[in-house]
Amino acid sequence: MATSYKDVVGKARRAFNMGKTRPIEFRRQQLMQLKKMYQENRQTFHTALKSDLNKPQLEAEVFELDFAEKDVDFLLSKLDSWVKTEEVPSIVPGDKSYIIRDPYGVVLVMGAWNYPLQLALIPAAGAIAAGNTVIIKPSEVAPATAAAITKFLPKYLDQECFHVVCGGVSETTELLKQRFDYIFYTGSTMVGKIVREAANRFLTPITLELGGKSPCYIDDTADMDISVRRILWGKMFNLGQTCIAPDYVLCRKEVQNKFVQKAKEVLLEWYGENPKDSPCLSRIITERHVDRLAEYLKDGKPVVGGHHDKTSKWIEPTILVDVSFDSKIMNEEIFGPILPILNVETPEQAVDIINNREKPLAFYVFSTKKDDTDMFLQQIPCGGITVNDTLHHAANHNLPFGGVGHSGMGAYHGDYTFYTFTHLKPVLMRQFDKDQDAILKKRYPPYNEEKLKILTS
Ligand code: NAD
Repeated sequence: MATSYKDVVGKARRAFNMGKTRPIEFRRQQLMQLKKMYQENRQTFHTALKSDLNKPQLEAEVFELDFAEKDVDFLLSKLDSWVKTEEVPSIVPGDKSYIIRDPYGVVLVMGAWNYPLQLALIPAAGAIAAGNTVIIKPSEVAPATAAAITKFLPKYLDQECFHVVCGGVSETTELLKQRFDYIFYTGSTMVGKIVREAANRFLTPITLELGGKSPCYIDDTADMDISVRRILWGKMFNLGQTCIAPDYVLCRKEVQNKFVQKAKEVLLEWYGENPKDSPCLSRIITERHVDRLAEYLKDGKPVVGGHHDKTSKWIEPTILVDVSFDSKIMNEEIFGPILPILNVETPEQAVDIINNREKPLAFYVFSTKKDDTDMFLQQIPCGGITVNDTLHHAANHNLPFGGVGHSGMGAYHGDYTFYTFTHLKPVLMRQFDKDQDAILKKRYPPYNEEKLKILTS
């Protein structure tokens, strides 16, 4: 196994060193091929996402296929302006100063299983746009989507420059022994640490898109009907298996009562009497995760939902109250359709609770009180924030997306994706006659007081 990874990386490195990925036309053509792959194999990708996660078609389009395809359109629309060498002002008259947008080289992209298509292919597309060769490792936990990527990608993209490798923990361990020029990893914080350690061996720069608990604060000024819909939508999308899903809610007891009452109505309206029969809900990825989530159900009182069924990988949309801050559910990322509500008396108390934990990937505040909202924006260190809605800061490509601390390092989306995979290479060009310049001449030894004065004035 080790030699084959060595071969794959070697092949990608040779292609990079030969300059194959540098021409803009090559990059453009590869991106157009990627778009074609999405378009010509739409149904197969839908079937794979259904098989892995029972993803409803709307969700598979909105946050996987259409999302990834539009991302390619964006890359294509910006490519010319991004790659242009930029001239910047010089300090010494007559010099020329430039920034060259330089690709790093061989990039490894490792995706997660919850959005198994876009989390592997959007970073890969960015790396292609920036002129790198790319090794893509889709998550083995979503095997049907990984198989579809493995089957189609080589048919559409250049086979020397772009490679798909598959496998689980042992294969990933071997893969990480190879030397890459950039690693882009999406997954858990625990494995993120392993990836960083592996990257350190070669001082490889990395982006870590990790997870954690994303809190949600709601006060009595928020429109309850709209807030409940927006929080539950963010929570139940992909059956809670979204890195930025609202993980838990903090509010006063009176707000909790109104929230629960409205949530019962909304969940009934969306999913009917028997949510398990609803075509609008995904399934939990594996039975192991069902077991993990079923344990959390014991950490509070279910006021909505509460059922699970291991064989059909089902956890019912659930709201838990009477949950302790010390419970297991409050100390691990939930990553499923269980929403605990915990009570606080003041927004300051909410800030205190959140800031005494690891920095979240996302934070949500529902309020019309400007001062309180501003306080949250200023005082909560986290990956990103949406005010009065959920998930949406991740859908605007003008905003960087990423975590901080235990929720990650680095960011991508939009322009940030291109710059993630690009080294800004500064160049200064000077003519030989510059040594006649009165000031430049003063740098040479022997040093003296007069030279020091002139050079520091
Ligand atoms: P994971 O970290 O458990 O696994 C990711 C991949 O790492 C696996 O597919 C496997 O190949 C490899 N791996 C697992 N254990 C390993 C080990 N010991 N040594 C080497 N490699 C190993 O993550 P996951 O379960 O695929 O994803 C869920 C996590 O990802 C959640 O925490 C979620 O919040 C996070 N996530 C973050 C984002 C984001 O954009 N920030 C997006 C999606 C998911």
